[in-house]
Amino acid sequence: MNRVAVELGERSYEVRIGPGLIARAGVEIAPLLRRKRVAVVTDETVAVAHLPGLTAALEAEGIAVAALALPAGEATKSWEHLARCTEWLLDQKVERRDVVLALGGGVIGDLVGFSAAILRRGVRFVQLPTTLLAQVDSSVGGKTGINTAQGKNLVGAFHQPSLVLADIGVLRTLSTRDFLSGYGEVVKYGLLGDAAFFDWLEREGPALKAGDEVARLRAVTRSVEMKAGIVSRDETEEGERALLNLGHTFCHALEKATGYSDRLLHGEGVAIGCALAFELSSRLGLCSQEEPSRVRAHLAAMGMKVDLADIPGDLPGSEALIALMGQDKKVVDGRLRFILARGIGQAYVAEDVPGDKVRAVLEDALARRR
Ligand code: NAD
Repeated sequence: MNRVAVELGERSYEVRIGPGLIARAGVEIAPLLRRKRVAVVTDETVAVAHLPGLTAALEAEGIAVAALALPAGEATKSWEHLARCTEWLLDQKVERRDVVLALGGGVIGDLVGFSAAILRRGVRFVQLPTTLLAQVDSSVGGKTGINTAQGKNLVGAFHQPSLVLADIGVLRTLSTRDFLSGYGEVVKYGLLGDAAFFDWLEREGPALKAGDEVARLRAVTRSVEMKAGIVSRDETEEGERALLNLGHTFCHALEKATGYSDRLLHGEGVAIGCALAFELSSRLGLCSQEEPSRVRAHLAAMGMKVDLADIPGDLPGSEALIALMGQDKKVVDGRLRFILARGIGQAYVAEDVPGDKVRAVLEDALARRR
């Protein structure tokens, strides 16, 4: 088992990563408990595959378990399910000193984390991330929240978990598509700040995809180390944390354009967004033309979506896509901000990116669909 510390003063916590952690969950979680009871919230898909194992592990340590399974999917990150989850936790008589467990992907982690943040003005929670995306990204860093009619993640809170248990063994039951979607975020870490990690992914990515647990352990651990470092230095995104949004300005526009449907999963949008951000960086003369080609080549070698041409169905034109970017909550004072790169592993926050260059990148990408 690997351990990565997220250093945030009295809100510090550990991310433990390894195979078999669900089976050890009782032992890992017991020291946090003031009474031997937990409430687990999961989704219906994860409940079938992993709730029995978690329940058995907790009960083996004498911990009583109450569990709620919500529908799987992004639509669950809603006011409706926030209310359902929070009221259920109240019905279970969860108190300030208790601990809530979030067992699932980013949807469950974000929703349950937010519910824990507002329940009795904040109860502790433990993340048990079960998707690659949740293990390398959403379970670490304390961003929690829901979607509203106005957009994604617009209502939420910073609420750090007390512990994260990332059992890489559970990734075996994940569909290849969901695995590769999470891999989009893994690649992002190499691209934003660790060129040697990207080199390693180019070599080991296929083994990782095929299920090699040594490679998976290393990839998840390195990703979490990078996220933990950034979050420790900039918890509330005043500066450096924005680098984690590499690829996300394009991604959010594409997710909106595709209605947050399964035409485009979040991590797929991130991967395409990273490729476009490198293309934009190259056109702005920040990096060589080989760098975006290398990014695209790796995504393609992994069997991932690489470009707008890989998104099924209609997409709006470049102006409409730019308008969708403009509603991005990362816009400061109405100016478009991009995370650009001076090369692989060298991302930075760019303000005032020329609109005509963004438009040209999108128009060329849209032309490749025809
Ligand atoms: P998800 O939670 O919807 O999981 C994807 C699918 O995989 C679901 O159908 C789920 O039931 C299934 N699943 C989960 N674990 C499984 C397993 N082990 N075996 C089989 N099936 C499994 O989606 P996600 O990709 O994990 O997360 C996406 C969400 O994360 C988005 O809402 C996004 O906004 C959020 N996110 C949050 C942060 C953050 O910092 N809080 C960062 C990135 C993304």
